Amino acid sequence: MLGSVHGVERSVSSRPGFVVTAKGSVGLTCHSCGADFDLPVDSSSTIHVAHDAAELASWEDEAFECIEGNEKTSALELVEDELLLAVPYIPRCPKCEADPAILEA
Ligand SMILES: [Zn+2]
Repeated sequence: MLGSVHGVERSVSSRPGFVVTAKGSVGLTCHSCGADFDLPVDSSSTIHVAHDAAELASWEDEAFECIEGNEKTSALELVEDELLLAVPYIPRCPKCEADPAILEA
């Protein structure tokens, strides 16, 4: 599993922030048939960092994910969060995913 965090390029946004990426595969167990399978993950998010709660509130209409700059954040935590978002709550293997006869539990 590879993860990276790097600053948002000034040309993309005037706000400070990070681009968080998570790439690799995650071992999951299928919720429908119990088979173990690897889910490929290739995900990235832009996270903007506000100076304080007021600034954060003023951004709430934005589509970006925002965090307060005084929250304890580390690159590892950001990557872990990105990974959690990329993994389905109810994992299903590609075989079950492709089978329309299997309904959501
Ligand atoms: Zn399955």
